[in-house]
Amino acid sequence: MTTLSGTLLQPRSAIDCAVMPNAVVRIGDDGRIVEVAAAAAPSAAAQGRWIIPGFIDAHLHLPQWDRRGIDGMSLFDWQRNIGYPAELRMRDPAAARRLAEQFAAGVIANGTTTVAAFGSPFASEVDQTFAVFERAGLRAIYGMMLNDVDTPCELSQRADEALDQSRQLAANWHGKAGGRLMYAFSPRASIRCSERLMRGSAALADMLQCYLQTHVAESLDELAAVRQRFAEHVDEVDVFGEMGMLMPRTILAHGVFLSAQQRREVAQRGAALVHCPTGNLFRESGLMDYVAQRSAGIRVALGSSVAGGPDPFMPRVAVQGLHTAKAIKVHTLPRRSMQVPRPPEAWWMLTRGGAEALGLGDRIGSIEAGFEADCLVVRPEPWIAELPPEQQVSALLYTISPHQIEHVYIAGRRVGP
Ligand SMILES: [Zn+2]
Repeated sequence: MTTLSGTLLQPRSAIDCAVMPNAVVRIGDDGRIVEVAAAAAPSAAAQGRWIIPGFIDAHLHLPQWDRRGIDGMSLFDWQRNIGYPAELRMRDPAAARRLAEQFAAGVIANGTTTVAAFGSPFASEVDQTFAVFERAGLRAIYGMMLNDVDTPCELSQRADEALDQSRQLAANWHGKAGGRLMYAFSPRASIRCSERLMRGSAALADMLQCYLQTHVAESLDELAAVRQRFAEHVDEVDVFGEMGMLMPRTILAHGVFLSAQQRREVAQRGAALVHCPTGNLFRESGLMDYVAQRSAGIRVALGSSVAGGPDPFMPRVAVQGLHTAKAIKVHTLPRRSMQVPRPPEAWWMLTRGGAEALGLGDRIGSIEAGFEADCLVVRPEPWIAELPPEQQVSALLYTISPHQIEHVYIAGRRVGP
């Protein structure tokens, strides 16, 4: 039994984030939370400490972990000059293992307890990386990058062979480590995949009850390329729909340029969308209208989009999401959105809301009895505790930093500092 004590931050919904001072969280040996209670008396150990759910990063690329923060290129230029060479390195097992270890330790040090990430197009890397995640204790949805069209030849695969390898990886890892590891069939993007690869990914993901992750409507360059390649289709969402790729376990990254009709389609099919506000601004792709996506009924998670995005620390991604919504509100004419999400909604998306978008809302994202204990012990600036609770929720979001994280627990196991 592990016992944590401190002030508990409990995101309950998009508009309700509770603060419970002097809380005690008891975690059983099976990694689940047994009890959340009020301490009989405030303890010295609890002083200044907060217990918060671990962060969920629903879109990033492992091979780009050590290519963060390289500015000055459009999405396509960056992909060509930085992204593709970074993936190519992963052919070397020793280099791939080193980077997987750095990635797992790095995201955990930033308080991220669950990732949905893309790997390289090499099965050996993905197999080895899952083993690293298993040892490191990270919770991960992960998969081998799939692409066979308009991709550098060293990264391009043969569709049937790549689908076979993906199926084998899913058999090896999906549901392993007590359900902590999950497989995602991972076609890179509609313009990088043959019809055979997209249809095959969707069929296998559906059959094996795995995830499917891909990119959608990220940049105007990409949109133009989609129109050229799929001239007979209405748009990219239509392509994905026809390939069978829109399912409740589908994770669509970005969606900056989704139309109202596309939003309705995504919502209807139950696919999740990952809002990557830092990545979208860093690459000058655009401002995603989160309020419009939410209003359409789409389940939305947050993603760091590393290394299309520069920063793996998820609260800063969430803050950028708030800033993006404010920029749309004050600057876009005609006004697209009149409201902006507030800090409780940011906390919700970082934790339980992100978990729900990924279909994990009954297991993680909340510190309550029965949930798997993915949580952080942090020591924020002390003055925050003196504010009224709703101001604490806001101030904590805007001031928290990675060095304030004292401990990271995933499934009850201390995996971080
Ligand atoms: Zn991406």
